[in-house]
Amino acid sequence: MKAAVLREINQPLLIEDISIDKPMPNEVLVKTKASGVCRSDLHYIQGNQFHELPVILGHEVAGVVEKVGENVTYLSPGDTVVGCISIFCGRCDRCLEGNPALCLRDPMWGLFRSENDKPKLYKDKEIINQFLRLSSFAEMMLIHENALVKVDPEVPFEQLALIGCGVTTGLGAVLKTARIKAGSTVAVIGCGGVGLSAIQGARIAGALRIIAIDTVGSKLEMAIEHGATDAISATSSDLVQNVIEMTKGGVDYSFDALGIKQTAEQAYDIVRPGGTATIVGLIAEGVKIELDGLGFMDEKRVQGSCMGSNQFRTDMPRYIELYKQGRLKIDSLVSQKLKIDGINKAFDDMKTGGLARSVIVFD
Ligand SMILES: [Zn+2]
Ligand SMILES: [Zn+2]
Repeated sequence: MKAAVLREINQPLLIEDISIDKPMPNEVLVKTKASGVCRSDLHYIQGNQFHELPVILGHEVAGVVEKVGENVTYLSPGDTVVGCISIFCGRCDRCLEGNPALCLRDPMWGLFRSENDKPKLYKDKEIINQFLRLSSFAEMMLIHENALVKVDPEVPFEQLALIGCGVTTGLGAVLKTARIKAGSTVAVIGCGGVGLSAIQGARIAGALRIIAIDTVGSKLEMAIEHGATDAISATSSDLVQNVIEMTKGGVDYSFDALGIKQTAEQAYDIVRPGGTATIVGLIAEGVKIELDGLGFMDEKRVQGSCMGSNQFRTDMPRYIELYKQGRLKIDSLVSQKLKIDGINKAFDDMKTGGLARSVIVFD
């Protein structure tokens, strides 16, 4: 099968012919239909996060079940599925107390192949690593059933793919991690796929004021179209002061969709006393965030959010229903569709920053 392989940090992905194994028990072979290109993938290309190489990136994906392994009763060939990095074991403390996105993923519990098993992905004798248990920049994927959810086959694959990471991350950060109150004031830093989804989450939850912050004018326009009530260019040096003045003391909830030291700190600085900053974007390994300690006396809070605190098997079908009802816009988040050969263009465009989401489509 054709796949985009990362062999060297900061180098273009190479389109290669890769072999994929048959499903072992509890595994599912999925034909990839659409895969979004997410900023987290870029972090690994740029070496901000480390992964064993060579690896097939991609983790925002929808496809169709081709074949199921032994013991798989939840899915059958022909089912439309969305993949999620939040694979769950269903029996650890975190899973059982309702936080499966934080599953302990004990290797003893059969979620992963062992070293003695045949590799899932390989090229002749070389092992190709699987990324976040998905590796969706490939024509086929071999995924544990607990990283898949069966979804409505009527929805286009590109939109379904975006539900698989960006939409769930942004929407979930607002609705599930922060659980914002109706009538509150919200600010979202970074208006790409995740930020625009957070803005929509705030709109759906009944926020009174939603302030979008970005450096790119076209993204701020999109933010307004997706529910923001105010838009501020992040290039202004007095960004924090601006937000504090326009809200008379700061926002109730802020969301940093970018995961950069500066934006995470700004997210904290713009919340009012008693407010909560939620860091949604993936912060590069080793980066330390500095916060003004006095803010804690004002009961300001800062918290992380892992993939929108998802329980994806129940959340994603609900988000898809919101889309079908027209309350969640996803069509407009699909900025361009490319074939797998165009994958490096997708990353170049991401670095330039003008697009919400590029989606790789497969036949
Ligand atoms: Zn992602
Ligand atoms: Zn678990």
